[in-house]
Amino acid sequence: MYLKVKMSQSNQIHTEILIVGQGLAGSILSHQLIERGIDFFVIDKPGASQSSLISAGIWNPVVFKRMTSSWKAAEVIPFMRDFFTKAERTTGEKFVSHRKMLKYFTEEQEALLWKKKYPEGLSDFIEEKIYFPAEFDCDGLHKPEFGFSFVKESGNVDTKKFVETTSAYLKSNFASGKAANGIIEEEFDHSLLIQNENVFEYKNISCRKIIFSEGFLNSKNPFFNFIPFKPAKGELLTFHSAELKTEHIINKGVFILPLGNDFYKCGATYEWSDLSQEPTEKGQLELETKLKKIIRVPFAVTERKAGVRPSVIDRRPALGMHPKLKNHFIFNGFGTKAVMLAPYFANEMINFIAGKQQGLNPEIDIKRFSK
Ligand SMILES: Cc1cc2nc3c(=O)[nH]c(=O)nc-3n(C[C@H](O)[C@H](O)[C@H](O)COP(=O)(O)OP(=O)(O)OC[C@H]3O[C@@H](n4cnc5c(N)ncnc54)[C@H](O)[C@@H]3O)c2cc1C
Repeated sequence: MYLKVKMSQSNQIHTEILIVGQGLAGSILSHQLIERGIDFFVIDKPGASQSSLISAGIWNPVVFKRMTSSWKAAEVIPFMRDFFTKAERTTGEKFVSHRKMLKYFTEEQEALLWKKKYPEGLSDFIEEKIYFPAEFDCDGLHKPEFGFSFVKESGNVDTKKFVETTSAYLKSNFASGKAANGIIEEEFDHSLLIQNENVFEYKNISCRKIIFSEGFLNSKNPFFNFIPFKPAKGELLTFHSAELKTEHIINKGVFILPLGNDFYKCGATYEWSDLSQEPTEKGQLELETKLKKIIRVPFAVTERKAGVRPSVIDRRPALGMHPKLKNHFIFNGFGTKAVMLAPYFANEMINFIAGKQQGLNPEIDIKRFSK
């Protein structure tokens, strides 16, 4: 099946689909294309956008502010779980940790709303019980004055490991001749793309379809820069604390994610004007201030990271075919919810491209911006 991609003697690569960008979005597409036996090649400049390499990779089906379930949570979470289980099987690596999320209540109203909303569609996702400080067994955390409870359907994906493993998998299978799907690590130059009747030519690659998954660097894409992205920079820090003992993700304004061996990740900030991928003093101060409101034991910051989330103005993904240019597709805009949403919508995207479904869900279709 794989060896359908042809590499001629002149090193010309003939493939069905060219994917530009191999962050979380491009990697998830790659796994699903492999599963369906559809040929593809990827061009990616690793690290040009950091988002997937620094992301916390948390999934959380609950919007705490309104105490409602997150958009499409009931459909996308089973799909996500299934997707990553298969990816773990394919690569022989582990990416997913299922962890409960401890939600602190900061006022009595929050606990009352939690109780009230539990039967209104949240029972699959959260525990009903409100716990009080006497039942609190997390060493190193401040005692929650107004109680706490748990999101039971949450966890995290090690997105850096997933992206890097996928890249290594594509490289080694191509090099050994096991598979024809490969990856080239360089910057894609949009001005060199030539479209003939039914075929694209890009340097030594010819393909029938091209999918752009460039994260927030979509701003440099001349075909799809009409989509109203609203990228949001986020900063995270890693800290070490020998006295903090918790296996849960903690949520109280910021999150704390256990990494093992007494290391934890804390994040994240939101910033819309500075889109550099450098951590700042301001970001560190904000995170440390919030962190001290959750933990009461000493900690030492060991690493700081920043990236830019590819969010769209209406907070929905941006998928579909260019309104005028044939066979130019985009798979992007996963904002703060890439882990939960991208596997489900990669399936929809591939069905659409392969002609197995007529249109896309209007909420995510980029047609909504070209009316
Ligand atoms: C601080 C922070 C915390 C986050 N936490 C979470 C979380 O807990 N849960 C969650 O679900 N999401 C989270 N996110 C969001 C999530 O990380 C992103 O939505 C996701 O990583 C986006 O993946 P992507 O593949 O669309 O884009 P990217 O990760 O930006 O990947 C795009 C890829 O394309 C490459 N590229 C771009 N242009 C070109 C070009 N011209 N040529 C070649 N290569 C190119 C880039 O270098 C990169 O490799 C977080 C983001 C940040 C910044």
